[in-house]
Amino acid sequence: MSKIMKNKFAVASIHLFRECNMSCAFCYRSKAEGTEKPLQFWKDAIPYFKELGIPQVAAGGGEPLMRPDWIKELAKKCKDNGLYFNFTTNGKMIRDVPMDTF
Ligand code: SF4
Repeated sequence: MSKIMKNKFAVASIHLFRECNMSCAFCYRSKAEGTEKPLQFWKDAIPYFKELGIPQVAAGGGEPLMRPDWIKELAKKCKDNGLYFNFTTNGKMIRDVPMDTF
């Protein structure tokens, strides 16, 4: 990998799925194109993000907490690869997910 390619991007923003517990009128998710990828697809992508020198993965949906098992696995995969991980949430389910999940 050339030095030119490394550190070109600060964050990999990934949209996991369209599923959500809200129905905001302004939401873009119903207009999103393409098929949803399985969890393994995103787990396999993380080492490539690392190879590209991307230091952080930011996950969105939909609502990521609809599938906390996904978030837990992606957070672990990022940690194992030395990447930061964060996700965007509408916060409605934050009390339903034990924080030690992550
Ligand atoms: S909470 Fe976010 S993802 Fe869910 S419907 Fe509203 S804007 Fe869309």
